[in-house]
Amino acid sequence: MTKKRIRIERIILLVLAAVILCLSIALAVTGSKYKALKQNSASASEALVSAQQAQESLAGQKQQEASSYQDALNEQSAAYESEKNELNDKISELNKQIALKKATTTTKPGETPATPNPQPQPTVPSKVPDLSAKTIYLTFDDGPSSRTPEVLRILKQYGVKATFFVINGGKYNKYMKDIVADGHTIALHSYSHDYKKIYSSETAYFQDLQQISDLVYNETGVRSNVVRFPGGSSNTVSRKYNKGIMSRLTAQMADKGYAYFDWNVSSGDANGNSIPAATLINNCRKLPSKQTVVVLMHDAGAKKTTVAALPAIIEYYKAAGCKFGTLSASTPTVHQRVLN
Ligand SMILES: [Zn+2]
Repeated sequence: MTKKRIRIERIILLVLAAVILCLSIALAVTGSKYKALKQNSASASEALVSAQQAQESLAGQKQQEASSYQDALNEQSAAYESEKNELNDKISELNKQIALKKATTTTKPGETPATPNPQPQPTVPSKVPDLSAKTIYLTFDDGPSSRTPEVLRILKQYGVKATFFVINGGKYNKYMKDIVADGHTIALHSYSHDYKKIYSSETAYFQDLQQISDLVYNETGVRSNVVRFPGGSSNTVSRKYNKGIMSRLTAQMADKGYAYFDWNVSSGDANGNSIPAATLINNCRKLPSKQTVVVLMHDAGAKKTTVAALPAIIEYYKAAGCKFGTLSASTPTVHQRVLN
C-alpha cells in the first residue's frame, strides 16, 4: 500500500516538474521576444528624432544661406546704382557743356545767349527758432568718394567744420588729406564696411578697425580714436552674424582707447539714393532736446541730393544761432540703445 502510494506521489511530482519546466521555457521565450520588440521600437523613435533634427538644421542652414545671398545681392545692386548715378552725373555735366557750347557758337550778334536751366535752390524757411544753445556736429559716413570735393567746397564756403567717418574709398583715398587740410576731423568707420565680415567676431571687428586706422594714418598722419560703427551701435543686422556682438563691442571700446558716436538727427539719406533734397533738409530740422546734436549724412557717389541739400541745412542751423563743432573723445557722448 505504501509502496504504491510512493510511486503515485513520484509520478505526480514528475508530472509537476515537467509542467513547471514547460511553463518556464514558454516564459523565457516570450520575455526575450518582448525585450527585442521594445529595443526595436526605442531605436526606431531615436532614428525618427535624429532625422527630424537633421531636417531642421538643414532648413536653418538653407535659410541662412539664402539671406546671405540676399545681402550680397543688395550690396551689389547698391554699388551698381551708385556707379549708374555717377555716370548719369557725368552725362548731364557733358550735356550742359554741349548746350553751353552750342549756345555760344550759334548766338548771332544782338542775340542773348541761351543759358542752361538753373538748378532749383532749396530755401530757408522764414520762421527760424532760437537754437543758440545747441552745437551741431555734421557727420559724413562712407567717404571718401567722388562727392568729397563738393562736400568740402560747400563746408569751406560756409566756414563750417565737420567730421568724416571714413572707409577704404579706393581711388578716392587721396581726398583724406584734403579733409584734414581743411580742418575737419577724420574719424574711423570701417575698412571693408562688410557687415557679415566685421560682425562675425570681436577679433574680426577690431582687425578691420585697425586696418582703417592704419589707412587713415598712412594717408594723413592722423591717428584717430573716434569711431562710428557701420549701421550704428543700435544695428540689428549684426545679430544675423553674431548674437550679442554689439553689446560686447560697445563695452570694449573705451578700454581699447576709442570713443564711439551714433547720431541723434538723421538726414535720412541712408534710406535711398535719390531722396529729395527738401526731405533731407526737413529731416535735419527735427532736433532733439539735447544740446549736443550729431547729424548723420553720407559722403558717397550716389548721394547727390545730400550735396544739394547741404547748403540749406547749414543755412538753417546758422540762422537758428547754432554753433558747429567736430567730434573728439571729449565730446559728450551720443549713443543709441544697443539692441544686439
Ligand atoms: Zn556706413
